[in-house]
Amino acid sequence: MAEKLLNYVNGAWRESAAERYLDVPNPATAEVLARTPLSPPAEVDEAARMAAEAFPAWRRTPAPARIQYLFKLKMLMEEHFEDLARSITLENGKILDDARGEMRRAIENVEVACGIPMLMLGDFAEDVARGVDEYMIRQPVGVAAIICPFNFPGMIPFWYLPYALACGNTVIVKPSERCPITLQKVFRLLEEVGFPPGVVNLVNGGADTVNALLDHPAIAAVTFVGSTAVARHVYARASANGKRVQAQGGAKNPIILLPDADVELTTSIVTDSAFGNAGQRCLAASLAITVADADRIFVPALAEYAGSRVVGNGLEQGVHMGPVITPQEERIEGLIQQGLDEGAELVLDGRGPTIPGYAQGNFLRPTIISDIPVGGTLAKTELFGPVLGIMRVDTVEDAIRLVNSGEYGNMACVFTSSGAAARKFRYEADAGNIGINIGVAAPMAFFPFSGWKNSFFGTLHAQGKHAVEFFTQTKVVVERWLGTWERKF
Ligand code: NAD
Repeated sequence: MAEKLLNYVNGAWRESAAERYLDVPNPATAEVLARTPLSPPAEVDEAARMAAEAFPAWRRTPAPARIQYLFKLKMLMEEHFEDLARSITLENGKILDDARGEMRRAIENVEVACGIPMLMLGDFAEDVARGVDEYMIRQPVGVAAIICPFNFPGMIPFWYLPYALACGNTVIVKPSERCPITLQKVFRLLEEVGFPPGVVNLVNGGADTVNALLDHPAIAAVTFVGSTAVARHVYARASANGKRVQAQGGAKNPIILLPDADVELTTSIVTDSAFGNAGQRCLAASLAITVADADRIFVPALAEYAGSRVVGNGLEQGVHMGPVITPQEERIEGLIQQGLDEGAELVLDGRGPTIPGYAQGNFLRPTIISDIPVGGTLAKTELFGPVLGIMRVDTVEDAIRLVNSGEYGNMACVFTSSGAAARKFRYEADAGNIGINIGVAAPMAFFPFSGWKNSFFGTLHAQGKHAVEFFTQTKVVVERWLGTWERKF
């Protein structure tokens, strides 16, 4: 029987007393890799109390000392880089190169958080009134809960974890129950780093575990990444409980193709964006809006390029796209059919493929569907699979209007050789992450990950300075010290 995953609480590995464990299958082979506990609320309570107990000493550890733990973590992550990337591929299905890219992004966030002594600096104003000085300091908020999705099991926890710790908070991480193995490995490294007991905690589980985190009085801050319905729930419930919350939700990332865009470069970039990680990136292009005769140029080019993608086990050399996470392929095929029933046209059909040697895997090949009607299922719904929809419009203005009519606002991109069109798009598009001749506009760790509309609930985003603000509260001190020499003036 596959190994049971453990929780890590107060510096010790613990077997959960959960009544239910879920299998974690490799989506390429269906082999069960591990079993993850649906930890009960009592185990969340234990982790939250331990994290709260560890907080006073951790916040008193000077920032330059706190970051020494992160330097050590960075070195260990480099040392175990290949093992972590392989673990991502095994549990998530993405190809090894994508998994390596993911771990690189995780490490970048550790590196940026190492700048905390400077990032956490406050402000000082002398003589705001006669003999009175005023200053603002940043203090950690307390215990932070970090709730994660399945699609970037190695990277997304790091949008938050290093900043929370560097700012002096203690943390509880709740990985996706579908991809919990990589974090188990990350916590082995956190253990090796030697954080004081209770500073970093791992609690595996599902919805009940999340709800226990949202309700726990000892938890001050909650970050969430996942689907919009759950993001909305997390935001509402945790903020009703008085916590600071940021919740990143789903996406439907439109990209505009203008006829003057470089054909070869655009085709390869858009194909990678739409079908990389089997379309399961929150920044996957899922709707291409072709302007004027761009469809004549790009639809055949995309179909040819996407049709040549090699689909298979992400661990194997030469594979461009792995499986989707189970059991999504049935859901995705259903949505494709619904779109076709509404009048859309199949350009490239990737449904029901046979992948030799992987009959049990959750595979789809790249699928392209054109003539999607405005307001149709494929125009609105997040499929989260290797499906690119195409809509046609006559002008750039129409294209931007279509982009802005969507309910999500995670990413929007334009492909063009016109600076004027690019500027108009950048200025007017209602999305937090904008790509100009870029297909996956993922911000580096020192920029915020800025979803808008139904892709985000909250104010401060993940990464960089936003994370520092999120994980600290400001305190303003107004101060007067009157000496005899001051009284002379
Ligand atoms: P999900 O919403 O199913 O799960 C995310 C987390 O929420 C998991 O930890 C899960 O245990 C928990 N959860 C699930 N149902 C719950 C419920 N009813 N109550 C409380 N907690 C619950 O998301 P997923 O399928 O793991 O991830 C894919 C989604 O995440 C996609 O919609 C994708 O767009 C989104 N995503 C967004 C971003 C972003 O930056 N905006 C990044 C990555 C993924």
